[in-house]
Amino acid sequence: MRSAIKPESDVKILLVEDDLAEARLLHEVLKNFHLNKFNLVHVTRLGEALNHLEQAPFDVILLDLTLPDSHGLDSLRTIVSFAPKLPVVVLTNTNDDKLAIESVRQGAQDYLVKRNINAEGLVRSLQYAIERKRVTETLMQANETLVNSIQEKNSQLAEVEKINQFKTEFLSMFSHDFRNPLTTILVSAGLLQEKKEQLTEEKQKLLLKQIRSAGKNLSQLLDEIIFIGRSDAGKLPYKPELLNIQSYCQQVIEEFKITTGNKHKLNFVSEGIFTDALWDVNLLQHILDNLLINAIKYSPEGSLIELKIIAQENTVTLTVQDEGIGIPSEYIDRLFIPFNRANNAREIPGTGLGLALVKRCVEVQGGEISLTSKEGLGTTVKVVLPILTDDK
Ligand code: ATP
Ligand code: MG
Repeated sequence: MRSAIKPESDVKILLVEDDLAEARLLHEVLKNFHLNKFNLVHVTRLGEALNHLEQAPFDVILLDLTLPDSHGLDSLRTIVSFAPKLPVVVLTNTNDDKLAIESVRQGAQDYLVKRNINAEGLVRSLQYAIERKRVTETLMQANETLVNSIQEKNSQLAEVEKINQFKTEFLSMFSHDFRNPLTTILVSAGLLQEKKEQLTEEKQKLLLKQIRSAGKNLSQLLDEIIFIGRSDAGKLPYKPELLNIQSYCQQVIEEFKITTGNKHKLNFVSEGIFTDALWDVNLLQHILDNLLINAIKYSPEGSLIELKIIAQENTVTLTVQDEGIGIPSEYIDRLFIPFNRANNAREIPGTGLGLALVKRCVEVQGGEISLTSKEGLGTTVKVVLPILTDDK
């Protein structure tokens, strides 16, 4: 058998033995064994052993279990917890079989009965202890790697489950929100087809208007879902181009004034100096459209809605403020998660996707979004976006 202890290398042994005669004997045995070079350090107390272990590395410990400052398995436990990677061979007296076996159970690699020690047996035991400890350590490391990779896999699994759950919720909401406008279209179209003669011209126009508006809802819903789906897969497109964001916001407000028929007072305020910078128009449009539509949707007619844009050195802050129904505080934190709506908005149509979408559009540009609101008083949404220029 090949020796685990290389003959050319020193094996450093810490012998903890209070019986000086025993210690001398072991010393002699090792000295006379020619195959290996052993370097034996002898101490008589456990305290001393711990001091030595702290100061220098050893390959193996020979531990007597009856010491003046510690006794029996306590000594072993202290040594094992102090130097967990070091192999320990326990020295026992005759008739101490039980103790010997227990010491192996509690972390010793081997035991030797003092009276029976001979050179070959001692060296074999030391070799065996060192080798066995090395294998145990390797196994423990492999085990640790395995545990880590299982933990990693588990957290990946949890992530996949979260996405699956999101998809399930997404699908059920999707079908639910699709059904309403679809029913409107089917019922109105059915009435126009089968009972056209019995309907007044006004009623017919109303039905056609309902069909168009339901169709528009469906198309908007589809756009939002495609957009969110893309961003969930990390695929939200980001295509910046040079643009003056102040002029862009002003233009958006002017368009809103036309499409909403001046039912609200739409105010535009800007502060600071704006020069051309890199902005993704598509993302900006999603942000402004959703925030302004919310402000309009959740505010009474005639109330004031303000879009404010402030230029600072490195950022642009956009705020949309309204005097609408506001949001009960317990809902505020959840509104950026898809399909979350506040209880005071139930009567007003919506899917709960807009703010989730806005958040993604803001984050893909490296910005931040926050919302403050007081129920019955109004809501302010603030978006801070970093200014990127061609040279950055
Ligand atoms: P949609 O997907 O059509 O935008 P939505 O407006 O319900 O539907 P979000 O824009 O995500 O969805 O808004 C989520 C919820 O936050 C709303 O349902 C509403 O309860 C609340 N909310 C958002 N903006 C306002 C606002 N300006 N004033 C009051 N409540 C608001
Ligand atoms: Mg909305």
